[in-house]
Amino acid sequence: MKLATELIHGGNPIDPEHGSLSHPIYLSSTFGQKSLDEFGRYDYSRSGNPTREALEEAVARLEKGTVGLAFASGMAAIASTFMIFAPGDHLVVCEDVYGGTFRVLSTLFKGWGLETSFVDATDSNAIAAAVTPKTRAIYLETPSNPLIKITDLAAAAALAREKGLLTIVDNTFMTPYLQRPLELGCDIVLHSGTKFLNGHSDVLCGFAVARDPELGRRLKFVQNAFGAVLGPQDCWLVLRGLKTLKVRLEESQRNAGRVVAWLKEQKQVAKVYYPGLPEHPGYEIHRAQADGPGAVLSFELTSYGATKRLSEGVTLAAFAVSLGGVESILSYPAKMSHAAMPPAEREARGIKDTLVRLSVGLEDADDLIADFDRALNV
Ligand code: PLP
Repeated sequence: MKLATELIHGGNPIDPEHGSLSHPIYLSSTFGQKSLDEFGRYDYSRSGNPTREALEEAVARLEKGTVGLAFASGMAAIASTFMIFAPGDHLVVCEDVYGGTFRVLSTLFKGWGLETSFVDATDSNAIAAAVTPKTRAIYLETPSNPLIKITDLAAAAALAREKGLLTIVDNTFMTPYLQRPLELGCDIVLHSGTKFLNGHSDVLCGFAVARDPELGRRLKFVQNAFGAVLGPQDCWLVLRGLKTLKVRLEESQRNAGRVVAWLKEQKQVAKVYYPGLPEHPGYEIHRAQADGPGAVLSFELTSYGATKRLSEGVTLAAFAVSLGGVESILSYPAKMSHAAMPPAEREARGIKDTLVRLSVGLEDADDLIADFDRALNV
């Protein structure tokens, strides 16, 4: 099946009992068993729930993995994945990683004994140089958040394999519709499903998908032991959201292209970061490993005043945390996604006070552009 068909039919086999096209929501914390000797497939919803399993299998199939797991948020998926490691282990992590991932690594997991080196992952020599005998994994985001840097996933995975390391990729910005890291040799894909996978700004959720069943088993052990699972109602909402992933992404991406072209002409816009721009340093690598540039871009304004005017003046795009919804969302990384990063770390990474991130939604592109124009130029 092609991905578009998989999105409609993959997670939604027709209910064999009653023929419902929508997967039933099993709102049960526990499941009755027949006897001491005969337990059914499900016993307790932390360990397994039929609605959650339908979603987990759907996301695993889309990412071309063997095991998919749904968590209560992207951070729950990310932190649960870090728990497959042990105190004393070391990770090499891309430097402009999502702020919450930076926070959990530099506080909770650091205290637990999991060490991290943050590197410019666009430079494979920098990744290789950071590997120590204790390194267990390379952790990547591409495009990265918020500077939209591109990392060559196949090259990173090859390096990791050579050194006996896992490659873990946060694929939130692209989704499996546009990029499938497991097909490029990576081992685990993570998601904030809160974003494009669900797509309607009404659910917090996260996913981990493993290529190898044994690795999947280790992740499943953590999911059950730690217990940060996604509830069945939310699973159903995400199953519904997934059905329109293709059309949402295609349209948002088209709109993003229009907005980028307009932004580039604006004298108050100093720089636009978008992997669909031929001048983007990662353009060729991104084109080779993804099926499109996506709907998330960042741009720098020429002054703090213009940045403030834009954030206060937009009326269509929500000025808010998050991305990947049907509505456009304008974010301010310094005080939102990367507020957890100390100012010095932010500055060192180039996350300026004049940088904004835009997730382009499904509004008419002309209306979005007119709204930005009013906010910036009036
Ligand atoms: N990864 C990326 C790239 C994100 O943008 C986010 C949230 O913004 C997360 C992970 C965390 O996901 P959640 O907010 O669902 O916990």
